[in-house]
Formats: sequence, C-alpha cells, structure tokens
Amino acid sequence: MNHKKNPQNGVAVSMVDIPKTLSRAAQVLKIVATDNTFKPVKLPIDPFANRDGMAKTWVGNCIHCCTKLVVWEDGSTAATIEHIVPTAAGGSEDLFNLALACARCNNEKGIRHDARKLDQRAQEVVEKLKTRRLQRWRAPCAL
Ligand SMILES: [Zn+2]
Repeated sequence: MNHKKNPQNGVAVSMVDIPKTLSRAAQVLKIVATDNTFKPVKLPIDPFANRDGMAKTWVGNCIHCCTKLVVWEDGSTAATIEHIVPTAAGGSEDLFNLALACARCNNEKGIRHDARKLDQRAQEVVEKLKTRRLQRWRAPCAL
C-alpha cells in the first residue's frame, strides 16, 4: 500500500503497474493523464501545409529541464519515456516511476545512470525527479 500524496493538492498517488504489452503511445497517454503540467491545447494539424484544421494535443513539461513537450491526441510524441529509477537499477514500470522527458535529457541521464548501482550523483538526480513527479501528480484525468 502506498501513502504518498501530492503535497500541493493532497491527491493520493495510486501505484499502477503499466503492463509491458501496452503500446508506447498508450503508456505516454497514461503519464500525461497523471502529470498536471500537461494541458489540452489546440494546434494546427500541419503548420507547413495549406491544410485547415486543428488537432487536440497535450502540452506539458520535460521532467528534467521543463522544456515544452507536445503529445498528440493519439499518444504520438517526440518525447521519450523516462524511468525515474532506471530499470537497470531495479526501477519498476509503475506509473509513479515513469515520466516524459525530451530526448536530449533522457539520453544524458541514460549515460549517467548506466551503472547498475546508482552513484551518489545519480541518486540525487533520482530523488529530485521523484519529488518533482510527486508534485506534478494528479488523479488520472480523462484525455
Ligand atoms: Zn529536457
């Protein structure tokens, strides 16, 4: 049983294991639904073509550098799925352990966290990200 709560809104963090069989897009959408930085935004379907129409997207922030990330309604995105505690170090597929990161940040952390045992610096990063994920946590919203 987990008793973590977002200190800002009191929403309990329910630990939900994400099945490995779930598509990447579906995993991304589950993360979006529980990360309060993601807000619905209408964006042009194709700003480089003369096609009309707007599409529903979700715009939120990279868990590391807070740069803007765009997730399309179908879950496609240039962002990457971050394991806050890396799987190599025993990190789970639990939703609380997952966040979205820009590719640049995820790659940099990936290199630093390659070791099975986290060094002190890596542990500090993990603790910072856990706190941030908790602050951003919201009860899963309808997408
Ligand atoms: Zn980033």
